[in-house]
Amino acid sequence: MEHTQTCSDYGKVKLMDIPYGELKTTVVGSFPLQHSIENMRRALSDQIEAGVNFPCYGQLLDMNLMFLEPLAKEKCGIDMIAGEAWITGLLEVPKRPITLEFLEFAQDYLKKNPSKEVDGIKVPITGPITLSSVTKVSEKHHAIEYPDFILDFSNIVVELAKWYDKAGAGLIMIDEPSLGYAAWLGIGPDVLIEAVNKPIKAIKSALPSFHVCGDISAVTNILIQSEAPILDHSFKDFPANLEFYSKGILEKADKMIGFGCVSSTPDPQLLLDIGAGKSQWAEAVESVNEIEKLILEGGRRFGLERLIIDPDCGFRGMEEYFKDDTGQRIATEKLKNMVEAARRARKNLEISQ
Ligand SMILES: [Zn+2]
Repeated sequence: MEHTQTCSDYGKVKLMDIPYGELKTTVVGSFPLQHSIENMRRALSDQIEAGVNFPCYGQLLDMNLMFLEPLAKEKCGIDMIAGEAWITGLLEVPKRPITLEFLEFAQDYLKKNPSKEVDGIKVPITGPITLSSVTKVSEKHHAIEYPDFILDFSNIVVELAKWYDKAGAGLIMIDEPSLGYAAWLGIGPDVLIEAVNKPIKAIKSALPSFHVCGDISAVTNILIQSEAPILDHSFKDFPANLEFYSKGILEKADKMIGFGCVSSTPDPQLLLDIGAGKSQWAEAVESVNEIEKLILEGGRRFGLERLIIDPDCGFRGMEEYFKDDTGQRIATEKLKNMVEAARRARKNLEISQ
């Protein structure tokens, strides 16, 4: 089996090959814990213990505000007004790195706690379309309604991607849950593709990935035309997504699939019952067999060698259901089972080669 050249020490930039045929595991990024250094450490160590190959530093802050607040602080044309981001001037790229401390935190942790399972650190960056969707330009309008603002945000995301890339991230994911909304608003595919391609092309050493969760039926055309080598989607809670690519299309476009195979937002009623002590938290966790079955189904559709295994989306949504760390325990158990299922599915890969 071919082996990927990976970042064995977590601070240096090395060229990262696309890991075909290895069924590597990663996460989308967020965890259901309150933001603190202690909890970031917990989120990271839980992933490492579960055996995830590209763990995230543990995104515990709001995915939009964690970028928009520092951009406002750096006077990049954004102001925070009553907790919301507003465009109040010319949108400019920050002159010095912002949010890089999250990657540095994870690199520092891994230096002190090395793990042979870890190939590199995964960093999620909220994409230009999604940042535009929550940034106001007037009382009734958001930046996402204007192609120029989306492309200005794209230039900002380019800088973020470059900094993370140079600092030695292993996998950089552009997170765009609002892609479908922008298409629905009538923003042209050319603008949307350009907005995502710019940061993707700025990544030279890390693996670039493009995450769009939920139903992708309306945007597959945009996704397949993007230059992202990894398209990352939800297949557990959105099995219809299995229909929207074929092995042939992926081969032609030379893409891998980030294969979401465990639910990041379990049934709310079940979570409420677990919170009330009426159900066991383990009931919210998919079994290894169930996950393996879905991975093999993904393999039949897309080619097992083209999959990178991860959950459907981030786990942060579970936080509101629990006063304690039950959500985190559920997330960790899901990751353990996911890693084991990937390990079992890898055997099929060896047989087919
Ligand atoms: Zn998502």
